Amino acid sequence: MLSLPSVMRSHRLPIKPSRVIPVLVGCAVCAIVFTCAGGFVVYTNTQHLIETRNWLDGSHAILTSLQTESQRLDRVSYGMQLYEATGDEAEKRGAQTAAVAMHTGVLNLESLLQDNPTQIRNVQELDAKVQELYQVVDGFERPGKIPEGHIQDCRRIINAVQEEERGLLRRRSDESQDSRDRSLLSGAGFLGFSLFVVIALFAFLLKDAVRQRSFEKQISLANDQLEATIEELERRGAEAILLKEARDELQLCVTAKEAQECAVRHFRELVPGSSGATLIINNSRSMLEVVASWNDPSALSEGFDMDACCGLRAGRLRWRKPGQSELHCIHFIGSAPDNYVCIPLAAQGDTLGFVYLSFPTQEIADVAASRMALVQEMVELASMAIAGLNLRAKLESQSIRDGLTSLFNRHFMEIALEREVQRAIRRHTSLAVLMLDVDHFKAFNDTFGHEAGDVVLRKVADCFQQTVRSEDVVCRYGGEEFVILLPEISEELALAKANMIRRHVSGLRMKFKGEALRPITVSIGMAMFPAPARDGTDLLRMADHALYDAKRNGRDCVVVARENFNGQGEKELSASAKQVLALGESKPVIV
Ligand code: GH3
Ligand code: MG
Ligand code: MG
Repeated sequence: MLSLPSVMRSHRLPIKPSRVIPVLVGCAVCAIVFTCAGGFVVYTNTQHLIETRNWLDGSHAILTSLQTESQRLDRVSYGMQLYEATGDEAEKRGAQTAAVAMHTGVLNLESLLQDNPTQIRNVQELDAKVQELYQVVDGFERPGKIPEGHIQDCRRIINAVQEEERGLLRRRSDESQDSRDRSLLSGAGFLGFSLFVVIALFAFLLKDAVRQRSFEKQISLANDQLEATIEELERRGAEAILLKEARDELQLCVTAKEAQECAVRHFRELVPGSSGATLIINNSRSMLEVVASWNDPSALSEGFDMDACCGLRAGRLRWRKPGQSELHCIHFIGSAPDNYVCIPLAAQGDTLGFVYLSFPTQEIADVAASRMALVQEMVELASMAIAGLNLRAKLESQSIRDGLTSLFNRHFMEIALEREVQRAIRRHTSLAVLMLDVDHFKAFNDTFGHEAGDVVLRKVADCFQQTVRSEDVVCRYGGEEFVILLPEISEELALAKANMIRRHVSGLRMKFKGEALRPITVSIGMAMFPAPARDGTDLLRMADHALYDAKRNGRDCVVVARENFNGQGEKELSASAKQVLALGESKPVIV
């Protein structure tokens, strides 16, 4: 299984700490500070503007008032001149009224110029001159001298006040202009800065939004990949469970056939709708034979030559697909299917056979293609299990069987003898042991060769096995000597069986490389348990001595060991001999 963290680590996004919140907080604080500062600047500018405007208005009012004073002075001057020239009293009264009005005007001026001490002094001087002028005008009689001096004094003072006030007006106008410019500049600056801040903020938010979007895209991509990875992991998990179940089941099998039947069950589960079989190379390694199958792969032949399968020839998985790999294997009866796959079963450097899967439809073939890695893993598991079980069977056989004759070996015989002795004691039955030796076998080997001797030993072994019951134990004791255990048998029957064996062997007609071989005979020593032998060792020893006696008495005969056998080679005719003779044996049996 894949490790989840390694898959996910490759998709991890680079996460930067977001700067949006600190920037927004900073912007909010700046905006508040900036708005307060801007408001304060606008307020002070406006205040200043209002102040200078008031000052200007005041100056204009003063100048207008001075203008009026000047006109009244002119009126006094003209009235006096006209009264002098015409004597018209109305003109004199007019001059007097103008002088009085001037006094009122001067008082008004005084109130307007409160904040200007210099001008106040001038106005107070003017006021004094105006009063003097009024008195002169009031006391004027014609012909008389017009008070030019007083008029001139008044005009001079008015002009001086006017000059001063105009100067003030100019300064205030300039100041007002400056203030306006300042106000405009600060307004423009404020606006410009505000715009800049707004644009910067929007740019930042836009950048953040773009970053956010790309981040979301990456997250969505990562999510998709994560989903795909999870799906893949789930699939692999299910596959791993299937393989584990198959492995567990295969481990429980005790024979290669069982393992193959187990494997085909899992192949059927892996590719539903498919049919197939496991095929194994036979012992002579000349043919392939179907051992287990599923869903009846009817087109597949039951047995065929090794080179009939393209996959086996290639030594790897081979898929026959229409339009891609057209060549057909030739292990079919009738027409071959369109879509099938052959996967060699190989383990421990040995090819055991192959697995055949055929797919009736393209959909099933597609499913199989998507699971082919799993199928191959399954094939590997099956191969290893079958090879292991084959090896086990081989080792087991090697440990208890003789390589030449396939009979049980001496070691197995000793164990089996002990077991049979115990069983005979338990069941109160008797047990016979036959010890057999091929007569003059050395001479036979010398005449026909060792290979021919081997063939004879195999034939003799087959003959023994065919003559005894399946529960009897036939062993190669060593060289050309054999031991046969006959459980649950009476002495009479055992003797009859021994003679039957002897007769069958002497009746064997064998050929080696086309040459007829000389007939052979065997000598047999027989012993019985529980009497006269008292245990397994006794049985073997007594049977061996009986065999020795059979040899001494001319070979090709059976000798039954008796209780009075003293181990020194002495012999006497026993009841058994009589029995055998009674059974019609041509050869006497000596004990
Ligand atoms: P006897 O009748 O007294 O038993 O004579 P014999 O020649 O059979 O006995 P001996 O013990 O002298 O010779 C046994 C021979 O069996 C010697 C050996 O060459 C032969 N032999 C033993 N094992 C094998 C074997 O595995 N293959 C072959 N071909 N011969 C074997
Ligand atoms: Mg011998
Ligand atoms: Mg011999």
